[in-house]
Amino acid sequence: MSEESKRREALIYHAKPTPGKIKVVPTKKYASQRDLSLAYSPGVAEPCLEIEKDKNQVYRYTAKGNLVAVISNGTAVLGLGNIGPEASKPVMEGKGLLFKIFADIDVFDIEVDTENVDAFIETVKNIAPTFGGINLEDIKAPEAFEIERRLKEELDIPVMHDDQHGTAIISAAALINALELANKNIEDVKIVISGAGAAAISCSRLYQSCGAKRENMVMLDSKGVIRQDRDNLTSQKAEFATHRKIDTLDEAMVDADVFIGLSMADIVTPEMLKTMAKDPIVFAMANPDPEIKYQLAVDTRDDIIMATGRSDHPNQVNNVLGFPFIFRGALDVRATGINEAMKMAAVKALAALAKEPVPEQVNVAYEQTRLAFGRKYIIPKPFDPRLIAEIPPAVAKAAMESGVAQTEITDWNKYKDALRE
Ligand code: NAP
Ligand code: MG
Repeated sequence: MSEESKRREALIYHAKPTPGKIKVVPTKKYASQRDLSLAYSPGVAEPCLEIEKDKNQVYRYTAKGNLVAVISNGTAVLGLGNIGPEASKPVMEGKGLLFKIFADIDVFDIEVDTENVDAFIETVKNIAPTFGGINLEDIKAPEAFEIERRLKEELDIPVMHDDQHGTAIISAAALINALELANKNIEDVKIVISGAGAAAISCSRLYQSCGAKRENMVMLDSKGVIRQDRDNLTSQKAEFATHRKIDTLDEAMVDADVFIGLSMADIVTPEMLKTMAKDPIVFAMANPDPEIKYQLAVDTRDDIIMATGRSDHPNQVNNVLGFPFIFRGALDVRATGINEAMKMAAVKALAALAKEPVPEQVNVAYEQTRLAFGRKYIIPKPFDPRLIAEIPPAVAKAAMESGVAQTEITDWNKYKDALRE
């Protein structure tokens, strides 16, 4: 298909037959006058009064508990940059569609017209009573860090900036499995991280929680290696500054075991790959075009374990493996937040699932014959029906064990059966 026909197909998909991708559907009867008097006045006053007496009853009488806000100000949309709130709306609606089809979570997408951190936070706080959870989306770094941190502190519902943590969780699961295949310990491996934005910082933090050592990491931004002696580093970049006296990606890649790309297309060369250690792990996740093209990388090193952000190659690091299921688990125990324990539970559950035999329907969905754990299959595929039964229970259990759950799940088999429906 030509670029022009792909463009047209995408525009028609969004425009026809109904503009946009999601809509609101009633869940109660509305056929008679009696139904309407229950749905609205006078019947609706009864739940209002119950909730007035006890705010928690809002979860019993309204859709709050299954409703997530996908909120953006349009400042870092996909790889498109700061395109503004209206132009970000197709992405936020798309996220709503994914929440719905993968985890049956309803979404209101909210596009906020401000780049001011305080004003943005104020807006989200003021509308938070509507929602069971908040998915922050496509907000540029470094503002995104402060926005998420403060909202997590100030709200008592799950808040997650998916561009940071979604990518971190999925790629950490992939990294754990890749290291197992390469027969290397996370404590020992040398890791190069290209990029120091929202995704790269959060990934690097989570890899540390998984056991990676900060002193084994070298991070680069658009100006080169982030060294301790560099001036004017943001606090997030300073956290990962290296003591090594090197400046370039070429130098950083020598003997590296792992390359994490969350930066720009085509900045890694075959020559660089050749200097990496045995069984190099290369996650080139810049979208839409990776730091090195898949085919070029696998042609250069036959011992490589490679992942990208793209669906047309093996090992796609796709956030949809995370956010629907993480919020599902968090909502189902009415967690007051999404904490490290819950994220780590998602990492482990995803990594473990990739090692299980793959159901035939997944092979069929991806036109594969024998998907099995190995260099070309280190993370599950999004259309794997087991995800919904495996990831939310792991997250919910971690929420309960770490003390942030406000309701308990006791019968896990029953819960898993309900998730599968
Ligand atoms: P971001 O916050 O804008 O960060 C981009 C970072 O890349 C910045 O730190 C920037 O440096 C750095 N950079 C730019 N040119 C560079 C170069 N030549 N060498 C090294 N670093 C360079 O964006 P983000 O949200 O973190 O996303 C970054 C990339 O990862 C995008 O391509 C995005 O599509 C991709 N991504 C993929 C996935 C996925 O595969 N699932 C998920 C999230 C993000 P400065 O700080 O100096 O500006
Ligand atoms: Mg995003």
